[in-house]
Amino acid sequence: MGAELKENSIGDNQRTMPNYEERFPENEPGEFYVVDSCIGCSRCDELAPFSFRTLEEGGYNYVYHQPSTPEERDAAEEALEECPVEAIGRRGDP
Ligand code: SF4
Repeated sequence: MGAELKENSIGDNQRTMPNYEERFPENEPGEFYVVDSCIGCSRCDELAPFSFRTLEEGGYNYVYHQPSTPEERDAAEEALEECPVEAIGRRGDP
């Protein structure tokens, strides 16, 4: 009775994982990253303020702290799902 948490748990929308090579250099290395299609809407740092932050001079957001607890990870995952331009990526399980 394990949880059926697979990549399609993201929801009905088919999301394309952003290209890791297009991530901003400010991202802390690790599981989550933001790529250069970010429009700076700040939705991610509203949902997961301990992981995402706005770079004011750049007008975009980046991962300044990788999630370190299940709660933080859930919030980062929600931000990934809610990003309107699919600019948040996650490395790891295929
Ligand atoms: S939610 Fe997406 S578009 Fe909005 S700031 Fe975060 S990464 Fe950028």
